[in-house]
Amino acid sequence: MTHRLYYTDSFLREFDAKVVACEERDGRFEVLLDQTAFYPTSGGQPSDTGRLGEATVLDVYDREDDHEIVHVTDRPVLPGPVHGAIDWERRFDHIQQHTGQHLLSAAFVNLFHFPTVSFHLGREICTIDLDAPSVVPRHLAEAERLANGVIFEDRPISVSFREKEELEGLGVRKKVEREGTLRILSIEEFDIQPCGGTHAACTGQVGMILVRKLERVKQYWRVEFVCGARALRAARGDFETLGAAAQEIGCGMAEVPAMATKMIEERKTAHRERGHLAGRLADLEAAALLATGERTIVHAFDEGDAAFLRQVAARLAAQPGIRAVVASRAMRHFVFAQSKDVAGDMNRMLREVLVPAGGKGGGAKDFGQGTVPEAANIDELLGKARELLGREGA
Ligand SMILES: [Zn+2]
Repeated sequence: MTHRLYYTDSFLREFDAKVVACEERDGRFEVLLDQTAFYPTSGGQPSDTGRLGEATVLDVYDREDDHEIVHVTDRPVLPGPVHGAIDWERRFDHIQQHTGQHLLSAAFVNLFHFPTVSFHLGREICTIDLDAPSVVPRHLAEAERLANGVIFEDRPISVSFREKEELEGLGVRKKVEREGTLRILSIEEFDIQPCGGTHAACTGQVGMILVRKLERVKQYWRVEFVCGARALRAARGDFETLGAAAQEIGCGMAEVPAMATKMIEERKTAHRERGHLAGRLADLEAAALLATGERTIVHAFDEGDAAFLRQVAARLAAQPGIRAVVASRAMRHFVFAQSKDVAGDMNRMLREVLVPAGGKGGGAKDFGQGTVPEAANIDELLGKARELLGREGA
């Protein structure tokens, strides 16, 4: 069984050990040592990485059947003495996140009796799942404040080894299932937990805890948070995002939400007004086309969206004896429409005109619409429609 140096010293960055085995597996190498400072993936926390002699340690895991710690490397490591070095930046980040999780979980229990059922330490964020009837933003703010208060007090964190029977009198937060000697983590006058992870030496090293998000996941409440350097990066990122939004709008950062609300309202009003105006314009355009006295109307607008074309076409076809094809050059959109008292099939005609040009669309006998690709010539297609209407109308 590998001797775990990180159990008694989470701050050990380099160490000497003896290689006791090295086996190739799937192009990588599995190295066993007599002792190690490398933390294996466990308890929601990813493993350390680093170096063993010349080899890069890619992954570390705890082998279940014999509790050996397996170091997965990119090249073989010869039996005998070896020098190991863990990636300290990664380890310290994990120490900050993991210790912060102890503080946050303890705060939720101490304040509201919400136990943590699982923990995940991700590449960017961390999450805990709380077993609680309901969690609201006030709970998050209070737990965040309490946990950060304990950080600011820089309380000592200690590790001890005790028998399971001793734990009951100590006020351990969760039920202990393991037997025998347990590694106990104590945060002075705040939390006592059995835990095999890597922790800070004092709460101040966690820096700060920032709760980011709350969501319901199955029957639990998932709380997303970041600690230490991650909290600093997240706060800096938020500040820059908010600053960019404020600059774009031309207001102070505190006014961004109110300005966003105001702009959304203005946009809704403008959209409504535009709808009214487009309806008025459709009335006028349809009246102008009808004023010529022609009963067969083929016309292209430079501008106008599909809704505008449909409105014009509907107004034309509301009059008796009308067959109309209207298009928008800007949108490459066509509407084919005829009055109820006209016998032709505008949908068939629409397909005859648009499909050979690569267009798509369809509709019913009296009303159809479609769009043609960029390359299609709108005026040529309208010419073809006029010719077909002339032939059928004759
Ligand atoms: Zn822990």
